[in-house]
Amino acid sequence: MSWVTGAEGSPYGVTNLPYGVFRYDGREPRVGVRIADLVLDLAGAEAVGLVLAAGTLGRPTLNDFMALGRPQWTSVRQRIVDLLTDPAHRPAVEPLLVPLDAAELLLPIEVADYVDFYSSEHHASNVGQIFRPGQPALLPNWKHLPIGYHGRAGTVVVSGTPVVRPTGQRATGQGPTVGPSVRLDIEAEVGFVVGVPSVLGRRVAAADFADHVFGVVLVNDWSARDIQAWEYQPLGPFLGKSFATSISAWVTPLDALADAFVPAPDQDPPVQAYLRDTPHLGLDLRLTVEWNGERMTEPPFSTMYWTPAQQLAHLTVNGASLRTGDLYASGTVSGPQRDQVGSFLELTWGGAEPVTVGAGQTRTFLEDGDSVTVRAVAPGPDGTTIALGEVTGRILPAR
Ligand code: CA
Repeated sequence: MSWVTGAEGSPYGVTNLPYGVFRYDGREPRVGVRIADLVLDLAGAEAVGLVLAAGTLGRPTLNDFMALGRPQWTSVRQRIVDLLTDPAHRPAVEPLLVPLDAAELLLPIEVADYVDFYSSEHHASNVGQIFRPGQPALLPNWKHLPIGYHGRAGTVVVSGTPVVRPTGQRATGQGPTVGPSVRLDIEAEVGFVVGVPSVLGRRVAAADFADHVFGVVLVNDWSARDIQAWEYQPLGPFLGKSFATSISAWVTPLDALADAFVPAPDQDPPVQAYLRDTPHLGLDLRLTVEWNGERMTEPPFSTMYWTPAQQLAHLTVNGASLRTGDLYASGTVSGPQRDQVGSFLELTWGGAEPVTVGAGQTRTFLEDGDSVTVRAVAPGPDGTTIALGEVTGRILPAR
């Protein structure tokens, strides 16, 4: 039980405690942890000796704290739980609680490298059918390795950042033209944030996932389908993706998700030895996608074919090293049903089947002024539910 008002029964209760970076009251950016609708100023707590984290909590990103490693992540989390549950700490801690609406939430990590996977069989099959009609929906390699590409780390932005409609080349019947994208879409994804780096030339085993990965963010990998369709062969996504990738302001630590790990779908054919993760576990994260405030779909992350541990093993099998702040995203999360897809490309079947959004507004892809919010919940301990931080963004006209 927490003594913090509103914590009991909150999806941001004392079993959740996601980390972020924020500023308030004219102070420097600092690390905080969310409890109910408050943010505990961890820099302030560390400054007076309430928490010990090697001085990393006064920094403007989570990177230095994430680099400390799992023993320190666990001990700091346990200390925060003590501070927020033992009434003896209340007089010292309560002045460090900042109302959420007085806090400006910043990009929580300095993103090192950004990798985006493609791990939903349902999504890959849908996109295959839409982009390559008449051909097999999955390409021959898809069930043998987690398909991915390196994205643009410098354009990862925090939830709430407006997204300017990208301009670029797209195909027409009479050759390419240049202009604002007319098929601007979302991709609802889950991102994994690396804390502990690895050594160049040495691969990371799937079993070492929890030693390297600090936590989870929600991701919206905005995608310009017309730019993407024209540019993606033979080297894959480029400018159709790199203009912006939004992540939640809150990083949910893996420790908060201990009750959310569930068996992942069986894999057939069997995977290569380096991709075997035992136990083979995904996460029971239930996403929702809202378009202009209306709930459109509910993508189930538990249906993902490739697990985050397999993605980590694959990412490093060639000896590529991890850096603190690396972000790797799952790929669009889509379940088997139309109301479970994580992109509007799938929801409207390539734009052929418009949907109604809000009060009679018809949509295929995003219009200027539209907003999209992705949320997720997960099982917590003892039948409770915890929430991940939402990721939201609004489309501004092309410049
Ligand atoms: Ca993506």
